[in-house]
Amino acid sequence: MKSIVTGSTLRGLESAFLLAEKGCDTTILCSGTYLGEDITGTWKWYPRERQDQLRSELDRIAVKYDLPLTPPGLLYPGTIKRLLAEWVRKAGIKVCYMTRLFGAVVKGNVLTGIAAADKQGLFFLPCSLVVDATMHHEATRVISHNPLRFPKDHPITMRLELREVTCDFSNKLDLKDVNAILLKGIRDERQAYLEFRRQLPYDMSMQEARAWAVSESCTMLSALKQFPETSDAIPGEALPYAIDLDEMPVNIEENIKGWYLTCLEKWDTDDINTLSAESQLLINGNYLPFSLNDEQEILFDWKLLPHTETEVLVAGAGTAGIWAAISAARAGAQVCAVELLPYPGGTRSMGGVNHLYYGNRNRLFMNMWREIKEFTNDVMGRKIPGMLHAAEIMFYFSEIARCNIQYLSNAIACGARKNDRNELTDVLFCGEDGPFVVRAQRSIDATGDGDIAVYAGCGFDYGDDEMHVMQNYSQWNRCTPERNGYRSIDQDTMDQTRRSEWTRAIEWNQVSLADYDMFDMLTVRESRRIHGKSVVTFEDAVRGKRTPDIIYETYCTYDPHGRCMNIYGRLGLMPVQGNPMFIAIPLGSILPKDVNNLVVVGKAISADQDTFNYIRMNADVMSIGWIAGRLCVQSIRKGMPVDALPLDKLQEQLYDLGAITLPPPDTTTYSTSPDRIAAEILAGEESGFRNAVITNWEEIRDLVRNAYDLKCYRHAKLLEKTLLWFGDAVGAQHLTEVLSKANQRFGKTSYKDRQMIDGFIKCGIVGELDDYWLINQLVILLSKAHIKDAVPVIYNVMCNTTPGSGWQNNSSQYVSVRLDCQSAANYDRILCLAEAAVLMPDSIYASELTRLYKEIEVQEAPPATFYKEYLQVRLLAAMKACGAKETEQLLKFMCSSRYSSISSYAKKLLVSE
Ligand SMILES: Cc1cc2nc3c(=O)[nH]c(=O)nc-3n(C[C@H](O)[C@H](O)[C@H](O)COP(=O)(O)OP(=O)(O)OC[C@H]3O[C@@H](n4cnc5c(N)ncnc54)[C@H](O)[C@@H]3O)c2cc1C
Repeated sequence: MKSIVTGSTLRGLESAFLLAEKGCDTTILCSGTYLGEDITGTWKWYPRERQDQLRSELDRIAVKYDLPLTPPGLLYPGTIKRLLAEWVRKAGIKVCYMTRLFGAVVKGNVLTGIAAADKQGLFFLPCSLVVDATMHHEATRVISHNPLRFPKDHPITMRLELREVTCDFSNKLDLKDVNAILLKGIRDERQAYLEFRRQLPYDMSMQEARAWAVSESCTMLSALKQFPETSDAIPGEALPYAIDLDEMPVNIEENIKGWYLTCLEKWDTDDINTLSAESQLLINGNYLPFSLNDEQEILFDWKLLPHTETEVLVAGAGTAGIWAAISAARAGAQVCAVELLPYPGGTRSMGGVNHLYYGNRNRLFMNMWREIKEFTNDVMGRKIPGMLHAAEIMFYFSEIARCNIQYLSNAIACGARKNDRNELTDVLFCGEDGPFVVRAQRSIDATGDGDIAVYAGCGFDYGDDEMHVMQNYSQWNRCTPERNGYRSIDQDTMDQTRRSEWTRAIEWNQVSLADYDMFDMLTVRESRRIHGKSVVTFEDAVRGKRTPDIIYETYCTYDPHGRCMNIYGRLGLMPVQGNPMFIAIPLGSILPKDVNNLVVVGKAISADQDTFNYIRMNADVMSIGWIAGRLCVQSIRKGMPVDALPLDKLQEQLYDLGAITLPPPDTTTYSTSPDRIAAEILAGEESGFRNAVITNWEEIRDLVRNAYDLKCYRHAKLLEKTLLWFGDAVGAQHLTEVLSKANQRFGKTSYKDRQMIDGFIKCGIVGELDDYWLINQLVILLSKAHIKDAVPVIYNVMCNTTPGSGWQNNSSQYVSVRLDCQSAANYDRILCLAEAAVLMPDSIYASELTRLYKEIEVQEAPPATFYKEYLQVRLLAAMKACGAKETEQLLKFMCSSRYSSISSYAKKLLVSE
């Protein structure tokens, strides 16, 4: 029998273990990214005083169902989350993470399953028994369509996490509030939890109660400033959350006609069939009708769902969304913001993203930033360098209240409808109180993943073209000292077309080290890039293209990913570090191609992957969010679509605010004339090369080649570089000779000579690039010219430029060594070799490539398993191209990689000729 347990409370887990023990095929529906929502849920930190109680409760269940006991030491939220994940794995229970119950599917009078919503939309889960183990019987209420309300005077318990508390916690504070107690935290001696109770001033929904609890906490925090013990205290990561578990506002049984869902405490039988029969009771009760078509899609009547009408809908309240909402509301619009998590701020409030490096520091952004700072300094009573978490979230909550924004939290967008004019008419959400629809004149998709746009039928890209590789997982494990750094971020990709990917990603994270804490959400660096009416491309960025519909300009001096993967980047045409680059954002890039009244902001903007690296920073997404809010209000007031709006006024304002640096020109500023570009190159101007690379290069190459042959030039190196880039044999031959000579002399020459040669290669031919880029570029240049001997040359260069292996301790003695896999520093070089071998395959490289593959196989995975497997699969592509013997067998093995991008790439290689 298939059973679904809704809610991953301890009660829910216990039900699931019992059902699994009885042989039921059991799935837990979990709204967050971890189990045990009542003990590890949002901001539920366990104070020291309550550790023993928690441990004995967990161990009781462990003993009963033969599961691993709690580990010794303090039980951090991360420790508990990992333990619970291990429990369900051991018991063979499936979990659907980030999933909300949408309703019941009933055929005839029989329950056939449930409808659920996740980030890919609605789906059907067959089952014949549903257990309601949610914290407030939300599941029963969702199915019976009977939303929860807390009555006036209902007591609410709140817990506020404090840092920098300098008092002895054993001394209770005289807060003139009998209910307030201060509990010792577990992070360090200066962390504490302030637990206090208040009564609701009026009747409220769950969502309203949560927002109210935050504002109460702000008041409490200000009150704390008068006490010496807590005057320095600042809010930590935890905002108040706890709406006390045991105190239900009303007796739920009286309110609901039949018991459809079975709660563990109600079970007086161990007989699963009896339970299932009891659960059929609701079939005669009150539920929303859903059905299934042949494709197992959920069908329902949109008109039956409760709906809200508004002028501007903002879906997702991350930094882009919350600023879009604030800006639209301040411009006078009626705004409804709906967010998946209980609080606004998105990725930025997850922790770990508390810096605002990169991005354009224009006045528009600085104004927002000043507002946040002023508020948070106020809340904290003093200036805190860096930021912030709870304090910034409090700022957003205060603005939500001040600007009268309708804020609906804990609700996931799971569908959308358009009319025949391609306008979005309804956006479907599923929250704690069940499904509801928002109808808005203009909508802003700020989900960071373009969820609404996709529901409305827009196309999207993700990752890079070949393997869909992109940076994905968060800094969940950053909190253990040994994994605290960039290297602890893993770089798998999520296949954005597959539902199971979110769960796979979450489970993957659970295995990694995260003792201290894990955040509430999978923070995905790069998600979908929605196909817009225009696309921000790297090529345009390099050319400095500016269109009349410019609405923003990012300014960056740095590639936040460290390495830009496209050919322009490899040629030094992008700022790896150093030269600032302006990237113009046209209005078309935030307008999805196929929907007319929708704007997509934040990290789902329409861009190619490399440009995207630069424009997803907090400062930029906040600014673009703000601009989108304004645009939507103007478009409503003027009664015209956003893309038809006259932009001059807004652009003037943005120019004054420094969000665009130059008055927008009417046309693009670069010239595409081959003569003119060739003349620039001959005059030694790098810009000419840059333009040549990007424009119609064949004609330019011929002009340059002519000049080279006739020796009528002054800037040989630039010409060589240009010819090399175009794969011209003269240029390529020249470079190969230089490299070979350099390699021959390396063994004998002094450090000074080598420096000279390196300097010549780097400055003269390829500009100031580091080794990896030098090599990468050589690979491209030489392969373009089909220089047969290129791979050994590249190989030698790689060995000789490998830090630590080529030169030993600056000792001015050069030792040529084999490229080894001991050091992760060599991985980039090995990747280059693999790329070179794919471009210029030859059987002579097969054994060397196989050696490298095997050497990597036995290495621990520095810096992360994904890199290791990524490198291996790239080597396999090279081995295949060069005809290495064991390739097929090794590829088969790779097909079962847990990384979807790697396994699918391996499968592709396996079947390709
Ligand atoms: C690990 C990491 C470190 C980073 N470090 C930095 C840094 O140091 N500096 C910097 O400037 N940038 C940094 N960034 C990038 C930057 O933080 C993000 O690009 C930026 O916060 C994105 O903002 P957003 O509003 O587009 O998306 P998000 O912040 O992700 O907001 C999207 C919101 O929508 C909600 N949502 C998603 N789907 C749905 C749905 N279906 N229904 C309803 N709501 C939904 C989410 O809960 C979330 O609140 C980092 C990113 C990551 C992942």
